[in-house]
Order: sequence, then C-alpha cells, then structure tokens
Amino acid sequence: MPQTVDTLIHARWIIPVVPQNTVLEQHALAIHHGRIKAILPSEQAKTQFDAKSVIELVDHALIPGLINAHTHAAMNLFKGLADDLPLMDWLNKHIWPAEQKWVGEEFVADGTRLAIAEMIRGGTTCFNDMYFFPDITAQVSAAAGMRASIGMIVIDFPSSWAEDTNAYFNKGLALHDEYRDHPLISTSLAPHAPYSVSDEPLNRVQMLSNELDIPVHMHVHETRDEISMGVEKYGKRPIARLNELNMLSPALNAVHMTQLEDDEITLIAENGVSVVHCPQSNLKLASGFCPVNKLAKAGINIALGTDSSASNNNLDMFEEMQLAAMLSKAVADDASAIPAQQVLEMATINGARALGIEQETGSLEIGKAADIAAIDLSTVNTQPVYNPVSQIVYAAHSEQVTDVWIAGKRVLKQGQLSTLDPVQLIEKAGYWKERISKSDA
Ligand SMILES: [Zn+2]
Repeated sequence: MPQTVDTLIHARWIIPVVPQNTVLEQHALAIHHGRIKAILPSEQAKTQFDAKSVIELVDHALIPGLINAHTHAAMNLFKGLADDLPLMDWLNKHIWPAEQKWVGEEFVADGTRLAIAEMIRGGTTCFNDMYFFPDITAQVSAAAGMRASIGMIVIDFPSSWAEDTNAYFNKGLALHDEYRDHPLISTSLAPHAPYSVSDEPLNRVQMLSNELDIPVHMHVHETRDEISMGVEKYGKRPIARLNELNMLSPALNAVHMTQLEDDEITLIAENGVSVVHCPQSNLKLASGFCPVNKLAKAGINIALGTDSSASNNNLDMFEEMQLAAMLSKAVADDASAIPAQQVLEMATINGARALGIEQETGSLEIGKAADIAAIDLSTVNTQPVYNPVSQIVYAAHSEQVTDVWIAGKRVLKQGQLSTLDPVQLIEKAGYWKERISKSDA
C-alpha cells in the first residue's frame, strides 16, 4: 500500500547540502505536514507514495532554501537614497536622519514586505533581521509565511521604537515571549555594534542570551574607523572588549569582521563564534575584506548575509554566493580557496547553525521543515550542466528560482508569489519614494 503524503516533488537534481558533496539525480522529495518525509529515487517514490500534489521539475535543482544571515529588511525603502559614501558619513548624514524622520510601524511593515517578496523570489526562505519595530517585522514575516530570526535591537540612542535602553529590552523581551513557540519566528538579541552600545547594556545582553539560550546578532569590526574609535574610547580593540564582557561564545553572530588580526581569529575560533560575511556591503562601503579562508581554516562557522538593501543594493543571495567565492579566493591569493560547495553551505546550513535553528532548516534532511528552493538550470546561461553546484554558485541568476516552499507551503509557484502581491508592494514603494525624496533633498 502506498503511503499518502501532501506533496511529491520530482527533480532532475537534489542537492541536500548535508551530507556534504552530494548530488542526487532523478530523485524525489516527499513533503508531509510541512516536513521532509523522504528523499528517494523518483522511480521508487512513484510506487511508495500516493501524493495529493505531484510536481515534476525536469530541468531543476532543489536546494535548501537560502538563509540570509544579516539584513535590515525594512531599509529596502532607502535603497539608492544615498550611495557612494563611506560608512560613517552614510550613517550620520543620511541613513540615521532619514530613519529618525520616517521609521515607524507603517514604514517597517511596507519595507519588510517589499524585502520579503524580493527574498522569496530569489530562493531565500529565512532571514536574520536587526531593525526598529521588530514586532512589525515578525508580524509581517509570519503573515507572509517567511521564516525569520528577529533581532531585539539594542542601541544607546533613542528611536521612535524605544526611548531608552530599558525600553529596548522590555519591548524586545515582550516580542520574545510572544513568539516563543512560533513555527517560523525565532528571536535573537541584537546589540547594534560595539561603538553604539555601552558596557552596561552589553552585560545585560549577554546575561539574557545565556538565560534564554538565544543568539546575539551584532556588527563587529566592520571598518577600520570602528577599531580606532574603540581604541580611543575604551583603550582596546572591540573584540578584546567583547572578550572582557564574556560575549565571545557560540551564541555570537559577529557580522562583517573585516579587520582581524591572527590572534583575534584564534580567539574567536576557540570561543566558537560564528561570523556572518557580507561581501557586497563590505565592498560597496569600502569597509575592508573579511579573511574568509583563514576563518574557514580555523574551523569557524561562516554564514552569508546581504546586509540592508541600502548598502548592497539588493537582497540577492545568488550574487552574494558568487562574490563570496570569488572575493575569498582573491583575498587568500588562492584559487582553490572556498569552493562552490563550501559557499552553498555558507548560504544554507551554516546560517541555520549561526541562528541556532539547524534542527529545523538549512539542509534537505528527513524530519526537517520543507524549506526548499527550485532552480531551473535549463536557461542558456547555465548550460551545459557538468556540475549543478558550480552552476548555481558561479552562473545562475536568482531569477532562475521558480518555486519556493517554506515549512511545506509553496510561497513561490512558477515564479508567482502566493502570499504577497507585487503590484501593491510596488505602489507602496512609489508612495514612500515620493515622501522621502521630498525631504532628503
Ligand atoms: Zn548591517
């Protein structure tokens, strides 16, 4: 008797990511109650399973949904507002003033929806966010069927979200309580950066991270200026300060890490810190180069993120994968550094590990949530296919993603979003552009 399942996807290739270096040909993936029930040869699947929905993807590769491990999703509405400036000028003269003027519930809801549409369209099924009004980000993500790790932002200055440090913590913790058992939403503590959060709140962040067993998401060693400011104010480099505050631990997701000395790499490796590499943002803001190959050799878990659309300027994880591979080779002066498979791991399972959700997502394994992206490799730019992993990392465009499932729900069906309306999103983007461009002049 065949077993009944909700969905059976037959694909030309299945790349589960775990186990490593595995490409299954002419296999099928069975989904039941939102989870991966089986991965087996297509022929066998036809007799073993009776599916309510059968999908044939004859030219496609199935991969785990991509995990964007560092975003500020709502900032999609500032995309292209201020380009070609160094980080501190960009923040102090443009982004922070614009945020003070515009950021509120409506802004965050509209910006985040726009970002989620772009992410799902490009095969991303989970993002790790840090922004004001995280309650709205969580609400919008859950409604769109998007998986997200929502940061409880903490920063020394007041915002329209919170008037002081206490308010940041209290509002963040209320959010954590609300989503404690949510199937798609997890939370993290998100102190903005060493230069924008003082010791006392950082102590509290670390205490809460231990108590609640959740990650800490923080920009660390992004630019040379940040190091000089740290040395001037605290007499030490930010990593040394975080070490004294007992913040170097497997819970820490240190984003950027472009300015690293060898003993700092040893220190973060010994303490199990994850690094989130954002190559496009680092290049656009001329922040520096993350020594990805050295970090990988030291055994550090490296995830991949786009950063916000204001410093990228998109949320395209295909571009990010390609650039991560190429830039790491150039920085290491070694063409064999960071091969395609390793980059795909950075964009999937390593992100899940950093966010503490590797039991749930990040690879196509039986029992995990069915978070899947299907990529059509039949287009001219990805033919012929000697090695589908190489094609995905080095040749494919995000537009080749045709179908996406998150926890078994098909949120992109043959290129069409099923939980968001692009026409409405574009109208909203135009509305914000009119308002914001009048005031930033
Ligand atoms: Zn950032």
